[in-house]
Amino acid sequence: TPRVFSGIQPSGDLHLGNYLGAIRRFVPLQDTHETLYCVVDMHAITVWQEPEALRRATREVAAAFIAAGIDPKRSIIFNQSQVAEHAELAWVFNCIARIGWMNRMTQFKDKAGKNSENVSLGLLAYPSLMAADILLYKATQVPVGDDQKQHLELTRDIAAKFNNDYAQTIKALGLGGDTGEFFPMTDPLIAGPATRIMSLRDGTKKMSKSDPSDQSRISLLDDADAIAKKIRRATTDPAELPETVEGLAGRPEADNLVGIYAALSDRSKPEVLAEFGGKGWGVFKPALADLAVSVLSPMSTRMRELLDDPETIDGVLRDGGARARAIAAPIMDEVRRIVGFVR
Ligand code: ATP
Ligand code: MG
Repeated sequence: TPRVFSGIQPSGDLHLGNYLGAIRRFVPLQDTHETLYCVVDMHAITVWQEPEALRRATREVAAAFIAAGIDPKRSIIFNQSQVAEHAELAWVFNCIARIGWMNRMTQFKDKAGKNSENVSLGLLAYPSLMAADILLYKATQVPVGDDQKQHLELTRDIAAKFNNDYAQTIKALGLGGDTGEFFPMTDPLIAGPATRIMSLRDGTKKMSKSDPSDQSRISLLDDADAIAKKIRRATTDPAELPETVEGLAGRPEADNLVGIYAALSDRSKPEVLAEFGGKGWGVFKPALADLAVSVLSPMSTRMRELLDDPETIDGVLRDGGARARAIAAPIMDEVRRIVGFVR
């Protein structure tokens, strides 16, 4: 069976974009694929995290996975730092990837801002660790939001350069399979109506955990009041909703809210506009708030229950870590042989 890997950073409050763009899409893949879902705590510390907040956020991501319908028995749910091979393979990849490749990454440029001399070295090397996360399991499918597309292209570049640089030893050791390739070329799974949910305050910026404004995102743990308030205050232009999707062009905030409605109701944007076209925000925003509450509140209730019992969550992560390591260890062992590390 093909193998899926995806990760979420415990770097703040999980939000609607993480749910619609990633977590929700993880669930059906359990029926068709071997699935590994990882809380990528080593990625999170590329920017400063308070240790206690990191622990809490790690459990929160695990709770969200389970509350969304990921079954810890069928899927492997674990946190990245429990499998040291992630760091080990990332180091090898740091020596494969070129600094120029990293400098071109838009996520790095966005997060580093103007002061790129004073961010962590880890932030620059982030995509190399991400490539290690995926390739350590030879995963072939990676469900992510649209913002991770560039990192997945880099993952393929790293895999290809490793396969090429070490082609001779891979062949001599007989580790290249039918194709001569040790690492597979990974396919991104970026699909559906919600691959890029935008900030509620600024329709040109994606919704993010790390946005300093809490008003910019709907958090998975927000209560009904908070959700309604944030949607009511969401930035929009004054015009009423258009009758067709063409009418959303040049209106990023309207496009975003209609897209959120479509994703939450499993409908298309034209279907949503068939209902709300010609109506004003005073009608649409309360309807969107009701819909968001109806989808999110059962999940946040379940998340809270799970978070009341951190030992059980930690047990899930530990068990997942052991199962992940069992897959990773033999692959890492082959990497060491290919590279020439003496054991
Ligand atoms: P940070 O701001 O700390 O980077 P984030 O909100 O971008 O946090 P990540 O943990 O980096 O969250 O990403 C987890 C997953 O959620 C990835 O698959 C990413 O593509 C997806 N994702 C993040 N933001 C959005 C969004 N606004 N719309 C759709 N998918 C998103
Ligand atoms: Mg991110």
